[in-house]
Amino acid sequence: MPLPTRRTTLLATLGLLANRLHAAPQAPAVWPHELQVPGGVARLSLGPAAVRPVAFANELPLLVLGDAIEWTAIVGIPLAAALGPAHIDLQSDGGTRPVPYTVGPKQYREQRLKVAPGTVDLSPEDEARYNREHAHLQTVVATFSEPPPYGLRMRVPVPGRRSSSFGLRRVFNGQARNPHSGMDIAAATGTPVVAPLPGRVIDTGDYFFNGNTVWLDHGGGLLGMFCHLSTIAVQVGDVLQAGQRLGAVGATGRVTGPHLHWSISLNRAMVDPALFVEN
Ligand code: ZN
Repeated sequence: MPLPTRRTTLLATLGLLANRLHAAPQAPAVWPHELQVPGGVARLSLGPAAVRPVAFANELPLLVLGDAIEWTAIVGIPLAAALGPAHIDLQSDGGTRPVPYTVGPKQYREQRLKVAPGTVDLSPEDEARYNREHAHLQTVVATFSEPPPYGLRMRVPVPGRRSSSFGLRRVFNGQARNPHSGMDIAAATGTPVVAPLPGRVIDTGDYFFNGNTVWLDHGGGLLGMFCHLSTIAVQVGDVLQAGQRLGAVGATGRVTGPHLHWSISLNRAMVDPALFVEN
């Protein structure tokens, strides 16, 4: 290879410059991406403050990130949120002040699925089991711990085809059920599932619909739920680094085939995991 001359160096520099200029109109990537719709995330500026401000949405504590120059509330918008004006409450000296935002429309498609009849019309025993599990999971999803996560850009927990099925209004065997509140990633049984962000294991179990499940607490009210696992490789209390294995893909619970179901809960709202990962 010839040594670079002044001219080739100059051309290379111009090339780099051109690339930079070409890329300039793109805003820098922020994680999660903002999408102010049901099942999305609002990023609300709280301005400067010497210490981290405290903010709530419907009395639930919110994830607040930033520094003394600029703080931002990262707000999960529930799938069932009403469209139109909304607000969070920012705690200030002697009271709270509202920080307004708007929930825009998003039309989620309908998905019709055929599954084993006993997983739609539950027997009395399964109904009782489901009710116990539901009550337990209400306490898991209420977890809010410090410190908040360091960054919010997540790695995909398992490689594979990601369905864009978040928010789908699901009809099982002709009966309407809750919308799909996560991302499904197709992968073979046994494929390792890893933590998308550092987190502490706050729950593991075998649940009626979700099958073998692990919950991770990423801090600040940001939680991850990983369902239908064939095996669970962690215990409650374990602290995982991003990329550390938590279990393996399976087909446990109510499924039509092996895949990972990944949900993200933010201030108890299930939000679209696609907002947290690279496309
Ligand atoms: Zn799913």
